[in-house]
Amino acid sequence: MDIANNITELIGGTPLVRLHHVTDGLRAQIAVKVEYFNPGGSSKDRIAERIISKAEEEGKLLPGGTIVEPTSGNTGVGLALVAQLHGYRMIFVVPDKVSEDKRAVLQAYGAQVVVTPTEVEPSDPRSYYSVSDRLAAEIPGAYKPNQYQNMNGPESHYHTTGPEIWEDTDRTITHFVAGIGTGGTISGTGRFLKDASQGTVQVIGADPEGSIYSNPADVHQYFIEGVGEDFYPKTYDPSVVDEVVQVSDAEAFEMTRRLAREEGLLVGGSSGMAVAAAVKSAKMHDLDEHALMVVLLPDSGRGYLSKIFSDSWMQSHGFGAVVERTSPARMVR
Ligand code: PMP
Repeated sequence: MDIANNITELIGGTPLVRLHHVTDGLRAQIAVKVEYFNPGGSSKDRIAERIISKAEEEGKLLPGGTIVEPTSGNTGVGLALVAQLHGYRMIFVVPDKVSEDKRAVLQAYGAQVVVTPTEVEPSDPRSYYSVSDRLAAEIPGAYKPNQYQNMNGPESHYHTTGPEIWEDTDRTITHFVAGIGTGGTISGTGRFLKDASQGTVQVIGADPEGSIYSNPADVHQYFIEGVGEDFYPKTYDPSVVDEVVQVSDAEAFEMTRRLAREEGLLVGGSSGMAVAAAVKSAKMHDLDEHALMVVLLPDSGRGYLSKIFSDSWMQSHGFGAVVERTSPARMVR
């Protein structure tokens, strides 16, 4: 029989698929690793599994314990589905800018959601950092994974994402491309691929315009979610990364929409950003057909239907040209 014992056994083992249309005019081959095939819908399931099992091994998480983390997105879903299975209580602290839909997803998995004001300094006792610290300190048996400092994040990618890509490409991958949030994905996967290939695989980071990784001198707001930072997290290892390619919101969102319409891949904005960075890098280095780039797509586009995939949201946020270029005319091509 081929029956998984529980849902967490289905984490990882995500497929690679070739791109054909958005790569028009390129000689390099580009394949994407589609992380929405994970049971919680994103690459964050991988880190949740390792973070929780290591915390148990180290005695930081005991039966009946509570997981407290400031997160609104994919990490919360990953932690929730692993924690639920082990019988832990979950409290996620989210800023009030986080949509009702995202809070509802966490609640649906059985988590408690504590909402905090967005418009306060991180040091303010009402901020989502402060509130999660306080809850973690006050609740007996509480454990705070802290994904920005928890090295089990990058480790999970070293032990799963990296080997999967290496084997699935018959050890012929030449370039790995991923967005950088905590940096766990690129650092762990990139380190494995460098180790396995004796340093020949090139590791390319994709970064939103306004984030510290591509330009520390010009840190500002942007719309792409889940990637980019205004500080350097412990989980990011810059020594693994050969190049960081900057991508604008408009470029990322145009590519995100094209992936859905031309490749049948309904993915999030950080995925579009990563593919846009791969295309830019392939052009910049004039890569030929011997190059096999693998781009990691962290999550599904379902969570962005009212933003990137909404013409009115796009237009009202100044992305009108993107909407026009991906209008129905493209659908009949
Ligand atoms: N894309 C999305 C949608 C994410 O949620 C994350 C995680 N913050 C990333 C990309 C970046 O992954 P990492 O934290 O491993 O750098």
